[in-house]
Amino acid sequence: MKLANLIGWSALALTVGAVLFRAGYRIGRDRALRLQSQGGPPGLVRHEEAAFYFRGVNFLLSDEPDKAIEAFTQAVRINSETVEIYLSLGNLFRARGEVGRAIRIHQNIIARPDLSDQNRTVALFALAEDYRQGGFLDRAVDSYRRVLAVDPTHRKALSGLQALHESEGRWDLALEVLRTLKQVSGQADPRREAHLLLRTGLEQREADKRGSGTDNASGQVATLEPFWTAIKVYPGCVEAYRLLGEAQLERGEISAAIKNFSTVRKTRPSHFFLLVNALQKAYTLSGDEKGFYRLMSEAVASPSASPRLILCWSNILEEQGRVEEAIQLLRRGVVLHPGSTHLAHRLLVLLRRDRQLEEALEVADRCLDLLTSRQPVFQCSQCGFKSQDISWKCPQCQVWDTMEPL
Ligand SMILES: [Zn+2]
Repeated sequence: MKLANLIGWSALALTVGAVLFRAGYRIGRDRALRLQSQGGPPGLVRHEEAAFYFRGVNFLLSDEPDKAIEAFTQAVRINSETVEIYLSLGNLFRARGEVGRAIRIHQNIIARPDLSDQNRTVALFALAEDYRQGGFLDRAVDSYRRVLAVDPTHRKALSGLQALHESEGRWDLALEVLRTLKQVSGQADPRREAHLLLRTGLEQREADKRGSGTDNASGQVATLEPFWTAIKVYPGCVEAYRLLGEAQLERGEISAAIKNFSTVRKTRPSHFFLLVNALQKAYTLSGDEKGFYRLMSEAVASPSASPRLILCWSNILEEQGRVEEAIQLLRRGVVLHPGSTHLAHRLLVLLRRDRQLEEALEVADRCLDLLTSRQPVFQCSQCGFKSQDISWKCPQCQVWDTMEPL
């Protein structure tokens, strides 16, 4: 038997042990009560139940899981109070990847007529998890829904169902469940909510385009709403501003689009470069090329200008034949961001093309210095840990004298 299996079964054996201990306690208590009241013989039933458990554990340890399931089924039939053992057994099978056995056990539990509501919910949730792991998505959705029909505030079922809808691409349902989860847990997930809103918005837009295209004034108003809501939920959502602006461009609302694209400069300056192409398109449509030039010159001059933004604008300048301006911009860029090899590389390329070879050589030199200083010198032959200094005992895997020079 593999070590991992053994550990798994040991965990179950411990649970079984705890329940047997409780069963033993009950047998003793029942006997004491019987002596007091001269009642019936419940101790016998307990002994029988315990025997099935011991048999089950033995089968588990000798790696005969199906016989073990049979023995545990018998035990649970005798005493439905100890159904939690059976539940643990099912969960353990799922953890081992034996989804078929897990499903069989959990279905068996649910089929019991004398099951308490609480245990039924637990078993239904476990079954939903089995189905999800086994890839039976429709059945998993159905089981989660059954759990929620009994307990609408079951957080794990809500988040399981939410994740499932997301993986299926059912964005509207994923959003609906996410909002319920937010109400139940009091915890918001604005980034997720915003992106789900965007997906539903995109779907809606596609549906509007496919639908009756003649009377689309009201349809168009509706399609912008999810994007606005996404921005309200999560003001740093770059994609929301991009999609909103693009939808506005489609409607011919160019200045509104430009305003929304530009807002990202303030709300998420690190990602503003992602909207440069959209802005260029919008300004071209409005015939205001100078406005675009002004906006970008201002943006790259600001202290929050990211290396990516500088790179992006230098590429556009170069495309427009403004190579000297692009070089000037990149020179400032490498001073502001000395760690950015992308900027240094771009500057090097432009300098070489412009035959400014001496400066190109200097830039290349600095870039190589930087790259070399970042390069690790030693690597652990056991775990792959890399470092610049030698450690005779690897800080990651704690093995002695494994560092080899690179
Ligand atoms: Zn190591």
